[in-house]
Amino acid sequence: MLAQDNPNSVIVWFRNDLRISDHAALAAAADAGAKIYPVYILENDADGSRPLGGASKWWLDKSLKSLRSDISERGGKLICRKGDASKVIRDLIQETGADAVFWGRRYTQPEIDRDAEIKQQLKDDGLESRSFNTTLLTEPWAYQTTTGGYYKVFTPYWRSVRDSYEAPDPMGAPDSFAGVGIDGDEIEDWGLHPTKPDWSTGFDSLWTPGEAGAQERLSDFLDGPVRDYEEMRNRPDVEDGTSGLSPHLHHGEISPATVWRAVMGRINRGLKQEESALSFLSEIVWREFSYVLLYHNPAMGRENYNDKFDAMSWRSSKSDLERWQKGQTGYPIVDAGMRQLWETGWMHNRVRMIVASLLTKHLLIHWADGEDWFWDTLVDADPASNAAGWQWTAGSGADASPYFRVFNPITQGQKFDKTGEYVRKWCPELAKLPQKHLHAPWEAGKDVLEKAGIELGATYPKPIIEHKAGRQRALDAWESLKEKQD
Ligand SMILES: Cc1cc2nc3c(=O)[nH]c(=O)nc-3n(C[C@H](O)[C@H](O)[C@H](O)COP(=O)(O)OP(=O)(O)OC[C@H]3O[C@@H](n4cnc5c(N)ncnc54)[C@H](O)[C@@H]3O)c2cc1C
Repeated sequence: MLAQDNPNSVIVWFRNDLRISDHAALAAAADAGAKIYPVYILENDADGSRPLGGASKWWLDKSLKSLRSDISERGGKLICRKGDASKVIRDLIQETGADAVFWGRRYTQPEIDRDAEIKQQLKDDGLESRSFNTTLLTEPWAYQTTTGGYYKVFTPYWRSVRDSYEAPDPMGAPDSFAGVGIDGDEIEDWGLHPTKPDWSTGFDSLWTPGEAGAQERLSDFLDGPVRDYEEMRNRPDVEDGTSGLSPHLHHGEISPATVWRAVMGRINRGLKQEESALSFLSEIVWREFSYVLLYHNPAMGRENYNDKFDAMSWRSSKSDLERWQKGQTGYPIVDAGMRQLWETGWMHNRVRMIVASLLTKHLLIHWADGEDWFWDTLVDADPASNAAGWQWTAGSGADASPYFRVFNPITQGQKFDKTGEYVRKWCPELAKLPQKHLHAPWEAGKDVLEKAGIELGATYPKPIIEHKAGRQRALDAWESLKEKQD
């Protein structure tokens, strides 16, 4: 069979683009008038992909069920299969008689190579494959600096995107799918939801995975919080200071172009707080920038972007790492963040920076150990943004915060958790401390601690390392790294 311009039936292979509207691959299949077989493949870890973390699996479970239901409302059936993608695709072609496969492109390794192999295999079999951008505003090769090459610094990249990007027209969801039933696995049988123990109870009240949940979160955010975003985005004590869209964007339940159009629409209709809305869009573009960096540096998830850091003398301390993971460092803002992460699968951006700084600087533990923990526990765990966020904080990344800039966890807490609501919520054992001592309980007098029901070292830990000593150790390590380069 030869590749056709207008295929009769198309397998639409969903990846991190779990939605039916504004989905270029799905819209192309619908435009061609083809019978559509929507497919999701839970790929083997054995083929080199990084295994999903626990929180990502939790989200995927719900997001797939939501996609299944959206598709079935339109008379279709989401076919779920598990295994080696190339074999699954081959089997499905046999079973469906499809003459084309459409999908959204991926930008990570080994997925890029795998997709290229599958494309070649389809071509060899005389079948058509088409790939689309379904997850980013613009693909990682789209913008180049004036000297050629990709952007390594965020601000000029953001300016370029801001000044030239035009979102394409929105693509509606297909009215109906073909409704042809090919058997697949039950999502429920994939064991994505945790059991024994089910640690996800705190996730349910916060999140509504799926396209409808994503749309609702965007409109709630644009109806109010976006106006104060610029001012409030650094305040973990302010509810809805940020959008909370990251897990929806990561799983592709909403396209970034939809977000862009919606924000620009508000600005064009005269939103007074234009700067605030643009500052929100600049964060969307940080996500894009992270993909630019990862695409051009495929090993960035494991290796230092700046290889001078290869000679850094990291410490190895299992017990320090565990105290950090469990939110038992004795620094309230850090512990609050780590507990928020464990209980909800998400952490405020400002606090992500503070906890990452404590791990990589005060504790001198390699950023990859922190990245691994985030990978397992974040519902928005993302190969590009996570690696970029960790390397930015550790100082080894592109356009990174310099290593010698060590965040002070006490003053950061005082400045950004101004009301103390954040620490009080996630570290309830400190709730009765007066604001003055909330971010440094060890500085409170015996009476104050007693009155607040706190016994340091018993009900709440003493600091894992004294701030000044930790800071100095980090600076010494930095000096000796520089000496090794000379
Ligand atoms: C150490 C560290 C690790 C991180 N790991 C991840 C990760 O695994 N996945 C992830 O999506 N983000 C990660 N971030 C970036 C950022 O913390 C989250 O995107 C943000 O907190 C999500 O909350 P929000 O949706 O309310 O963000 P908002 O402030 O509402 O921003 C809107 C969207 O812009 C994007 N965005 C915002 N800030 C950043 C940023 N600094 N870098 C890249 N994209 C951004 C997100 O998609 C976000 O949903 C990390 C940051 C740090 C410092």
